[in-house]
Parts: sequence; structure tokens; C-alpha cells
Amino acid sequence: MTEFADPLWPHDGPPPVPIPRPGVPFTEEELEYFKRSDEAHKTQSPSTRDPRICVCGHPARAHTDFSLSETQRGLREMGRYICQPSRQICPCKAFHEVLRVEDTRTFRFQTKGPLNAHALFQGAKRSAENGHEIEWSEGVVCGICARPRDTEMPVYPVALKAPPNGGISQRATPFNRLLCWACYTRVLAGELTGHERF
Ligand SMILES: [Zn+2]
Ligand SMILES: [Zn+2]
Ligand SMILES: [Zn+2]
Repeated sequence: MTEFADPLWPHDGPPPVPIPRPGVPFTEEELEYFKRSDEAHKTQSPSTRDPRICVCGHPARAHTDFSLSETQRGLREMGRYICQPSRQICPCKAFHEVLRVEDTRTFRFQTKGPLNAHALFQGAKRSAENGHEIEWSEGVVCGICARPRDTEMPVYPVALKAPPNGGISQRATPFNRLLCWACYTRVLAGELTGHERF
């Protein structure tokens, strides 16, 4: 690396960018440098700096409202709304924060049912397995009875079928809610549609 050193950089400053020379393969040192700067870029990327996770199970940055990508910016200007974590498209229509996490990159699952089959649960599980911190956002309540979530009364993610009939969906829908166990069982039994708010 020293042979490419720019005299303007102080010796204790950041390393200079290696200059590719035509026909000369990169040295191990240069390759290592590219790898490191790529990793540094990734850890500083917007997706990891906004810690908020939506009830749909995906990062704020996946939603048109907060995305910095060209395509999503275009859609936002047209008044269109999507949630796009990685290559899949999620039908979520409105960002609703429920978690704050250390690393949002594990929140890319697809909802395949309620509770542990929901994208939010899957993402949180993977995050915990990776040793990353996750915390509930303030003011999380059961989506139906509005009782505040706590350790005594956890809330579970569900995707609901469209109103007015509602009910638990086995696929991703735009209607995601966190429900306490009592409310969840009532929706499952068909006593509630899941869209109620008491
Ligand atoms: Zn969402
Ligand atoms: Zn989503
Ligand atoms: Zn409830």
C-alpha cells in the first residue's frame, strides 16, 4: 500500500484509496482494502441506521415513505405506496412502528401465517439468534382491546384478511396487527374479525 501513498494523507490518517493500474492484478493488500471499505459502506448504509421496524415485519427503509432508492422515490412522488424488503413486495400500505433494532437486515421474511409464521416474529427470532438487540417501541398495545403490551401480556403478530369479514390470514396482507392472546383466540374462533378496535 505504501507505494501508492498520497503525500497529502498524514501517516496516522485514513489509508489512501489504492489506484488500479491497467494490466497489473490487485495485491492481497489492495483486495483487503476494497473488502474493508465495502464492509464499512454496508454498516453505514441507511437500512442499518434507521432502527425502526414496522408491524408488517420489515424495516422503515423498505417502505416508500422512508426509502432512499430512486425507484421508491419515484413511486412516492406519484403517491404510490409499497413495502419492498429485498426482492419481495409486501402488501403493507402504512408504516407502523413496533420495534427498534440494532440491525434491520434480518427483517426480510415473508408472512406465511400468524404468530411464529409472521414476518415480524421471524425477523425478531433471527435477530435474537444473531445476538442483536431488539426492543419494543413505546406505546405498543393490543390492536383490538388496546391493553398495553408487557411481559405478563405479550402481543403476537397476525396478518388479517380484508374487512369486513376479516379473520386470520395465512399470507401477507396490508392488515397487520399485534394482538393479545385473548383477542387472538377470539379472532381465531370467528367471534371477532380482527379489525375491531375497542
Ligand atoms: Zn410495513
Ligand atoms: Zn412490509
Ligand atoms: Zn387484546
